[in-house]
Amino acid sequence: MIASDLSTGVEQLGEMIAAARSIVPFTGAGISTECGIPDFRSPGGLWTRNRPIPFDEFVASREARDESWRRRFAMEPTFAAAKPGRGHRALASLYRSGKIPAVITQNIDNLHQASGFAAEHVVELHGNTTYARCIGCGQAYDLAWVKQRFEQDGGAPDCTMCEEPVKTATISFGQAMPEVAMQRASELAQRCDLFLAIGSSLVVWPAAGFPMMARNNGARLVIINNEPTDQDDMADLVIRHDIGETLGPFVGN
Ligand code: NAD
Repeated sequence: MIASDLSTGVEQLGEMIAAARSIVPFTGAGISTECGIPDFRSPGGLWTRNRPIPFDEFVASREARDESWRRRFAMEPTFAAAKPGRGHRALASLYRSGKIPAVITQNIDNLHQASGFAAEHVVELHGNTTYARCIGCGQAYDLAWVKQRFEQDGGAPDCTMCEEPVKTATISFGQAMPEVAMQRASELAQRCDLFLAIGSSLVVWPAAGFPMMARNNGARLVIINNEPTDQDDMADLVIRHDIGETLGPFVGN
């Protein structure tokens, strides 16, 4: 059911939150646009400017690795300046009140942790871009180290332990999904009684399967997104409005 207007949507969402025992939010890039981080698919989103570099290309081509790191460094002022928005803060309030056990996110921007979620309660399906890892042995690196090596050597650095390429700690297209995070997300989706899909176009699979999984296990499903999604028909409530405005009233509860 689509909420007729914003205030009706907020009221219905409030009733569902009050009635719920365990709420699991599932967030996408739309929750972070008000923090200054562009999403992928909106006009002006990252994809309208850059074709994504798939994992096999990153592994095979030094040029692709250099380009990937140049893009990441260009985004650093944006990521470094971003602060949690109203959506992040509303979810953090519900987390502190004990209603939310953990958040599942497709985002890579670390803003749920910055809003007050303990790191172990942020299930990152697509990793985290605020640090780097070796794709061979998994050794973690600071971005400052990568940047310094990039400038010194004129290109993307390799791991000092095993000499495999170092990449942002994110999951690229064509890269295997993180097994532990997928397992935890499945359990969360199956055990909650209210699932909130927030700011996702719900087209990136397998992540986009979690709302349906929650619904099939008896949870109520709410979709908050300013554009229609393919899964709106399945939802108990669709709020097709700005996320900050929709979740703002729940900050501090
Ligand atoms: P997406 O770009 O496909 O979809 C974002 C959706 O949010 C769009 O449908 C858009 O209309 C909606 N939206 C944007 N701003 C909104 C607002 N203020 N209020 C309401 N709706 C709003 O993003 P996705 O579904 O998360 O999938 C893309 C992939 O992009 C993710 O897997 C993620 O890894 C990656 N990504 C992450 C970030 C981030 O970490 N902030 C940013 C860009 C892309």
